Amino acid sequence: MSSSSIRSQDRASAWGDLSTSSRRQQALFACVAAAVLAAAIGVARAEGPWLASLLLLLMTLAARFRPWAGLSLGLGAIALPVAVARLGIWTAIGLAVSATLAAMLLDQRRRRRRRHPLIAMPWPIAVAVALTTLVATAAGGLVQAGVARSNRLADLNPAIANLAPAAAFGFCALGSLLGLRWMLSRGLLTRGVVPRGLAVLVPMSLLLDAVGWWLGASLVAIAWTHAWPLLAALALLAAAAAQLDDARRHVAGQADELEKLQQAHHRILSETSGMAGIATQFLVECENVLPVDTFQLEVFDQEGERRSFSAGRDRMLGEGEPAVTSVPPMLPGIHKRVAWHTIEHRLHAAADEGGGLLGILRLWCDPRRLEPRDEALLASLVPHLASSLHRARLDREAKHDPLTGVLVRRVLERRLQEVYRQSCEEGTPMAVILCDIDHFKRVNDTYGHDAGDQALIAVAQALDRGRREQDLLCRYGGEEFTVLLEASNGELALAIAERLREAVASLDVVYEGQQLPLRLSLGVAAFPELHVKTASELLLLADEALYGAKEGGRNRSLLHQGRGRFIDSTGQRYGEIEQSRPDVPRVFQ
Ligand code: GH3
Ligand code: MG
Ligand code: MG
Repeated sequence: MSSSSIRSQDRASAWGDLSTSSRRQQALFACVAAAVLAAAIGVARAEGPWLASLLLLLMTLAARFRPWAGLSLGLGAIALPVAVARLGIWTAIGLAVSATLAAMLLDQRRRRRRRHPLIAMPWPIAVAVALTTLVATAAGGLVQAGVARSNRLADLNPAIANLAPAAAFGFCALGSLLGLRWMLSRGLLTRGVVPRGLAVLVPMSLLLDAVGWWLGASLVAIAWTHAWPLLAALALLAAAAAQLDDARRHVAGQADELEKLQQAHHRILSETSGMAGIATQFLVECENVLPVDTFQLEVFDQEGERRSFSAGRDRMLGEGEPAVTSVPPMLPGIHKRVAWHTIEHRLHAAADEGGGLLGILRLWCDPRRLEPRDEALLASLVPHLASSLHRARLDREAKHDPLTGVLVRRVLERRLQEVYRQSCEEGTPMAVILCDIDHFKRVNDTYGHDAGDQALIAVAQALDRGRREQDLLCRYGGEEFTVLLEASNGELALAIAERLREAVASLDVVYEGQQLPLRLSLGVAAFPELHVKTASELLLLADEALYGAKEGGRNRSLLHQGRGRFIDSTGQRYGEIEQSRPDVPRVFQ
């Protein structure tokens, strides 16, 4: 079994356990809460509306504290029994449990998304719940009106009047969420322009809950004999909306992750920042299992050199140290301030691979949003992360030339085939540049092999600096380098080649007090300007252009124009080359 399938299985079973235990806990809580409230109703009935109001207020506050994590919608609905006391205690318990279960369905989805309670309350679900509530209430009112018309017409007015709370709830819910989204989009909360917490969000949240409760009471007051089907319809519609939204977000999330993975894949292939690709993957993996606020991955290479990658709340991964705030940000509603919970895992190679330290994974999490199983789940992933890091390190070592640090020929050849195929399918241009150091043998002969090595390193670094970020540079042979350019026509590639030539010509490499003379000849070939049938053919043509540059006097870059004709960046043309000249070495003989 591959390690990725092991990983996904682990995750799947762990999620399964988590949701089952969480469901059990919540169901238990719902029953206990319903029973307590039902008992309280008896007191409320005896002591009158003041005690009932106090109970409502206390439960609203309790909901905002969220010791039961976001059950306020359910708690709001539990207040129904206060208004339906006349239905009897068992009906009240039934109503409370069903409403709480509906709230749990919504809440579970919110928890999986692991964002902020109010923000994460999925927008379409909020709308769906508000609209469904309006429709259900209107339906209740109409039923009651129908009953009233058949019995007593005088009852019609109170029924219609009871639609007002429903409308108020809908508008408050929409208004609160719109306001919050507006503030978030302007960055007013994160920048601290708007005083967070008590000033804005608490009244808003309390209003939302209180009006929700009022609606619950009104709903039953309108059509208490019809409350059961109405509530069931509300719960079903809300759950269906939640499911639909979940599916939509799942698809959007997958597309998002695919995009991220594709970017990471490209980075790994181009090896401009292979470790950044791994860090991105680790970030995605960690976010899958727990709510990460700040992420850091330190990696160590074989020489023990350290690199640090970090990402903050904006999820922009970059190389550098993490910027962690002193405490987690406030959450809407009344919450205790807490300190960061830091999770650290040292990633070691397997014992049979030497067990060396490969890296350190560090996560800063808000403890109020952590589930008890989250850390255990992450810990079960750690061996897989370590082996993936180990593989990345081995892969990196296999793909890089030990002397110059640039990619080896094998990597270029693989990528060349892919780019060529893509170019054929999509019609985008591509080009290759072949570079060869002029009279390099003389450098070796005059200054020694060690000086030659230093010169090779300096040239590779100059080419690496001079190439565009998306271009792939490799050491093709002894003193030959190749650059693969995606989405570049011949003209652009020639300009880049000329830039590389100048970069090498201006190098100031001094070895034991003596300056090494370093010049470069370059050959450029582009597709589809040149009608080649394979990617290797394009390389052959670039080699022909390089041969032309050597022939034309070296220290120049030439673009292949087909039929043995070349042109340099000044527009000077170079004619048919003599294929038989034996003194000019060729990359492809
Ligand atoms: P031209 O301008 O025609 O390209 O001449 P050249 O001397 O550069 O070409 P030639 O192919 O004759 O010489 C290439 C030299 O590169 C020969 C070899 O000793 C040297 N070389 C190849 N790999 C290395 C290396 O890793 N280190 C050092 N120091 N020299 C190397
Ligand atoms: Mg050569
Ligand atoms: Mg050479």
